[in-house]
Amino acid sequence: KERILEVENLTVAFKTYGGSVQAVRGTDFYLDKGETLAIVGESGCGKTVTAKAIMGLLPIDNTTIGNENSKIMFNGRNLIKLTEGELADLRGKEISMIFQDPMTSLNPTMRIGEQIAESVLIHNQISKEKAKEIAIKMLKLVQIPNPEERYKQYPFEFSGGMRQRVMIAIALACDPKILIADEPTTALDVTIQAQIMKLINELKKDLDTGVILVTHDLGVVAGAADRIIVMYAGKIVESGRTEDIFYNLKHPYTYALLQSVPKLTKDTSKKLYSLQGTPPDLIDPPKGCGFAPRCDFAMKICSIKTPEKTTFAEGHEAYCWLHHEKANTQGVPELILT
Ligand code: SF4
Repeated sequence: KERILEVENLTVAFKTYGGSVQAVRGTDFYLDKGETLAIVGESGCGKTVTAKAIMGLLPIDNTTIGNENSKIMFNGRNLIKLTEGELADLRGKEISMIFQDPMTSLNPTMRIGEQIAESVLIHNQISKEKAKEIAIKMLKLVQIPNPEERYKQYPFEFSGGMRQRVMIAIALACDPKILIADEPTTALDVTIQAQIMKLINELKKDLDTGVILVTHDLGVVAGAADRIIVMYAGKIVESGRTEDIFYNLKHPYTYALLQSVPKLTKDTSKKLYSLQGTPPDLIDPPKGCGFAPRCDFAMKICSIKTPEKTTFAEGHEAYCWLHHEKANTQGVPELILT
């Protein structure tokens, strides 16, 4: 598999009146051609900030991206070091993004087809006729019926699911190497959600695009992702192949996330699990494991020292003291490592 993106020790901090918010605190991950990587976690865990850092979409003022050891390597270039102009050239052409709410991303006063054609014209020196041809081809590709007719219509004439299909058409019109989808189905109802995820997956296979799927909902990624990264309080707490995360998870936070996914069961007496408490304040991030105040398995060491990485299988890793050889997993361990 060809590696198309490699992120090393990514950090992002925002200056606020209250202090510096450490939104991303050193993440490492990669993306291969044609695979879907899901980044999952609660709001504020750093998943969207990570995605926006890759796109160069974070505000320049008051934001510090990376340190001397940080890299976002794409096509042999470190994206952290690029100028705004160089990033603008990549955006939409090499790396595209779709967002949660397609209505606010589309221009309500412009015909759908022209919006797709425009995105092609920005990055390619082609005629308007050729751009129109590509736009109609893209409408077909995202399975919008009567594309020639639909080309002339306005966003209000499209349903929510159709508008998201248009956003996917715009994002893929320039044949990008990476598609970042940030909560692409959250604003849609469940049936349409499934259709959109199916469409993204089919197109990814046809076009060999790498997809980064950002979501708070582990349920959405089950049939869609090849690998999953679970983030909490600005850090990766577990990563692995989708089957590792669903059937052999190793981190209490992954467990909590999975428990809150609704299941098809006849037993309606069971209430949906909801994780108590709130994530830590990232202006003053915790010393040890960020999940400690909410974790049923927390030990003394957990709030003192950052958990080390344990590798369970190729690519399946978790950061949790429970997997340390000295941890007493029989009861509530009093573990202090020196
Ligand atoms: Fe829980 Fe400790 Fe593991 Fe953190 S390191 S998840 S607090 S057991």
